[in-house]
Amino acid sequence: MDGLLIILSGFSGAGKGTLLKKLLTDYDDYAFSVSMTTRSPRPGEVDGKDYFFVTREQFEETIKKDGLIEHATYCDNYYGTPRDYVYDRLKEGKSVLLDIEVQGALQVMEKYPEVVSVFICPPDAKVWLERLRNRGTETEEVIMRRVNQAKREADFIDRYDYVLINDDLETAAAKLHGLIQARRLATSNQTAFIEKITKEIKNI
Ligand code: 5GP
Repeated sequence: MDGLLIILSGFSGAGKGTLLKKLLTDYDDYAFSVSMTTRSPRPGEVDGKDYFFVTREQFEETIKKDGLIEHATYCDNYYGTPRDYVYDRLKEGKSVLLDIEVQGALQVMEKYPEVVSVFICPPDAKVWLERLRNRGTETEEVIMRRVNQAKREADFIDRYDYVLINDDLETAAAKLHGLIQARRLATSNQTAFIEKITKEIKNI
């Protein structure tokens, strides 16, 4: 069975990255789609693992070659999802996690109606702003741009299939894994098996 395509969006600093890493460490079912971006690496980020860090020219070249499933501009930088890696992992039966913002998510929902989309929220705005500041990797100006971006993104939450409140990491990860497992059991995701078992039963 092919894996599921899963969109994880959420306000910058809502704990998406940590949640995602937990799923990748705790289970074998997942693959993380490494995005391409023109933003500079943050301290500790590794090229090819966290992102493919590229120039604007390289990014635009990839768009021209139709190498991306979706792409968007976020806080003046390009971000996009390389196509081949995602398709290969889906074929291996892995559920592929896309950590993408809203504009890209809407493109994926349009192209792949079977996608599972989850919007990750902090429990409240005050906790969220504290987390964003405590990350300590961005200047106040960058933080305020991300806050403004979040204000725009809030209008699109209802376009997602699920909203997950990331209050406690363990609980949120268990809920996320549970909902993905449930989606794998949907009849629409098991057409090949249904066909096989039906044929077998009828041939007895
Ligand atoms: P950051 O710069 O904090 O790593 O990411 C900024 C935003 O870009 C986050 O909301 C993240 O989900 C989003 N993002 C990361 N990769 C992609 C991508 O490939 N496509 C889109 N559309 N957004 C992405």
